[in-house]
Amino acid sequence: MASNGYRNGTGTNKGAIKPPASSNIRSSSFKSRLPPSSNHSPGSALRRTSSASFTTAAGGDGVPGRVRVAVRLRPRNAEESTADADFADCVELQPELKRLKLRKNNWESETYEFDEVLTEFASQKRVYEVVAKPVVESVLDGYNGTVMAYGQTGTGKTFTLGRLGEEDTSARGIMVRSMEEILVNVSRETDSISVSYLQLYMETIQDLLDPANDNISIVEDPRTGDVSLPGATHVEIKDEQSFLELLRLGEAHRIAANTKLNTESSRSHAILMVHVKRSVLGEEVAIPTESDKSSHFVKPPKPLVRKSKLVLVDLAGSERVQKSGSEGHMLEEAKSINLSLSALGKCINALAENSAHVPIRDSKLTRLLRDSFGGTARTSLIVTIGPSPRHRGETASTILFGQRVENMLRIKEEFDYKSLARRLEIQLDKLIAENERQQKAFDDEVERINLEAQNRVSEVERNFTDALEKERLKCQMEYMESVKKLEEKMIENQQKHQHDGFMKDKCNGEGPGFCEDIAVIKKLLEKETHMRKEAEKEVNKLKSQLGQHMDAGAGGDAEILKLQIALEDEVHQKKKLEEEIIILRSQMLQLTFEADQMRRCLARGGSGNAYPGLDSPMSQVRDSLSGHKTPVSALFDQVGVEKILDLLESEDANVRIHAVKVVANLAAEEANQERIVEAGGLTSLLMLLRSYEDETVRRVAAGAIANLAMNEANQELIMVQGGISLLSTTASDAEDPQTLRMVAGAIANLCGNDKLQATLRSEGGIKALLGMVRCRHPDVLSQVARGIANFAKCESRASTNGIRSGRSLLIDEGALPWIVQSANNDAAPIRRHIELALCHLAQHEANAKDMINGGALWELVRITRDCSREDIRSLARRTLNSSLLFRSEMRRLRIEL
Ligand code: ADP
Ligand code: MG
Repeated sequence: MASNGYRNGTGTNKGAIKPPASSNIRSSSFKSRLPPSSNHSPGSALRRTSSASFTTAAGGDGVPGRVRVAVRLRPRNAEESTADADFADCVELQPELKRLKLRKNNWESETYEFDEVLTEFASQKRVYEVVAKPVVESVLDGYNGTVMAYGQTGTGKTFTLGRLGEEDTSARGIMVRSMEEILVNVSRETDSISVSYLQLYMETIQDLLDPANDNISIVEDPRTGDVSLPGATHVEIKDEQSFLELLRLGEAHRIAANTKLNTESSRSHAILMVHVKRSVLGEEVAIPTESDKSSHFVKPPKPLVRKSKLVLVDLAGSERVQKSGSEGHMLEEAKSINLSLSALGKCINALAENSAHVPIRDSKLTRLLRDSFGGTARTSLIVTIGPSPRHRGETASTILFGQRVENMLRIKEEFDYKSLARRLEIQLDKLIAENERQQKAFDDEVERINLEAQNRVSEVERNFTDALEKERLKCQMEYMESVKKLEEKMIENQQKHQHDGFMKDKCNGEGPGFCEDIAVIKKLLEKETHMRKEAEKEVNKLKSQLGQHMDAGAGGDAEILKLQIALEDEVHQKKKLEEEIIILRSQMLQLTFEADQMRRCLARGGSGNAYPGLDSPMSQVRDSLSGHKTPVSALFDQVGVEKILDLLESEDANVRIHAVKVVANLAAEEANQERIVEAGGLTSLLMLLRSYEDETVRRVAAGAIANLAMNEANQELIMVQGGISLLSTTASDAEDPQTLRMVAGAIANLCGNDKLQATLRSEGGIKALLGMVRCRHPDVLSQVARGIANFAKCESRASTNGIRSGRSLLIDEGALPWIVQSANNDAAPIRRHIELALCHLAQHEANAKDMINGGALWELVRITRDCSREDIRSLARRTLNSSLLFRSEMRRLRIEL
């Protein structure tokens, strides 16, 4: 039988849980009071079905005869909690699956199924209801029943069965609870309950209610199979209290008996027998069979006494005492315990397997239980186990006993190499991924450090380059300083030259004094160039030194910061110096230019006009035609127009003035004009005129605009950009004759453009031009006269071409009185321009009347006679002769040409 139990558990059924083998038959060869049901189907009592009946009252769908096995795990006690703190329990419970896993090692465990799995948290009440209540109910219904506790000493057998729970009712064990239930359900008048309490030790039965009675024999009724102990004390129980006292008494006697026998209570089986006698009077008694409630046996309605018996057995400790080296008495004792327990196991197995032979006689225990065990009797076995991994072996054998009893499959979870391999593979993959991540992080870190190092190196390099640049700038500054000195020297020379050199130079042609100055300047320049070369050498030397410093290693952050600040300072300084260079250069070149101009004037014997374009637009053409580049143009090439124009907006007023002067000089040369305009120079100049109140700036800007206005395309640009009204405003605002001269010159140039006639009038250009005669300076008057002449010429041309008709706009604007008045001006340029203007005006009949009224006729007549220029004289004559009005007026006045 035992081998059969093991066979089921040793791996023939691998992996999955299988249904029980066909040996799981619930019929029994035990003799019982009532015969087994004929319609019971042996094969149908599969485990789950029987499990369901475990908690069902007997007489329900129960399958009496089968031993139901529950397992109960004791919680760790104080000693285990400390000693086994680092170890897991040797078992793992899965109460919902009614399974218990017994750990073999960390990765292997065996799984067992039970009818009920009670965890360490299971309450006494729940244990009672699950394990004992169905048996008790069955007993109340007239069947015998047994509840046994099996397990290693100290795992809670007595706790489960025998706790009195006097101080804590929730702690009451199965014995007390069973009695309670029975008492509640029986009638005090008609029913009786008696109890006997025995101890079975070394195949001897002792009466725990009467210790003197220590060898009680078992009597079996061969007819009914009923077992009785006539020698045992039977105590009638009326209430719970008397029962508790009885249990206490029995327990006390048990200890005393064990002391006398020199043993422990755990070496003996304690057996409580509860005899229930119930009267069933005058009723038809229907007694269900084992498995079918509908099929019953009917007895005639006569008074009946129904006897049943509940046996509660606290078995001796299941530990294998023979293994602990017991000898003598102890060995005998162990043999006896093993005998009874193994006989019990064998019987249960035989019962479960429906075996023909049930070895009931092998022990007193099995003999005693004969009528309460199998057959119609309900039997529950509660297997108690402890959690300690130290007692794993004992626990394992205890479980196997339960399994043997259960005759169930021991479910063995085979070690699944495939899934382990899979798990290991997953773990390996995880490790590989982690390793890769770490490698990447490491690489990234290396890269980051590299980058940081590179950045640091380049930063240090940059700092040293900056320091180098600083040094270079310092040298440049020194150089500029020298240029400045040179400039001063030049100014000094020029002043000297202006004061006392002019007349002398005039007499002596080119002027040797000036040439000397130029020579001195040249020398100075050479010296400066030399100094610069020296400075450059020095810079190179410093460069190599810095290179060495760089190799020597990078300075600290503080040093870098200091250098950066110094660098910013130097950049600022450099910018200022550059500006100054340009200014100094421009100043120098301006001076050179003016000197050059002067020289040319002297050579021609003219005045020292610095702005050639105003009076003689052709002079520049001549210069550029002559092929050699003027010094200003050279500057232009050297510095670049954008840079010069930028300086127009410099914050430094001094710089602005110089810059505008340079631009004006450049604008004087036709070759540069286009470039200046393209680079936005005209706009900048107009802006200066508009926003700067500084007289010099305005004067020079106006001069530059005047020069640019010599070009027809520029004239239109000036108009488009609002230059006419701007010039008009300046004309009325300005006081300085030189400014006025420039503005007048600019407007005069615009007057020569046919397309601008109307705009000039509408934007106040003509009025502004005439207004400037308030300043009696001949240079201003000369420009005004030129403007009027230009305007009159354009008008005349337009009238001749039939583009315009009617009176001259000049006359409309009231210019005639000043024209007539200035026609005889002492200054030749004024006179000449006015004479031309009069001729142009006179060519058109529409003007004749106003001219006659304004006295212009007299002037025209005078021109025909006095004008120094022959061409103008004959123009005047032709004009007068061709006009009807003039001719008639002359006739009236008796003037003859
Ligand atoms: P056994 O009768 O199997 O030798 P006991 O019932 O004497 O074991 O129990 C041993 C100890 O464990 C006792 O102190 C008992 O109170 C305790 N014990 C047993 N089972 C439990 C349980 N389920 N809960 C709490 N304590 C328990
Ligand atoms: Mg005990």
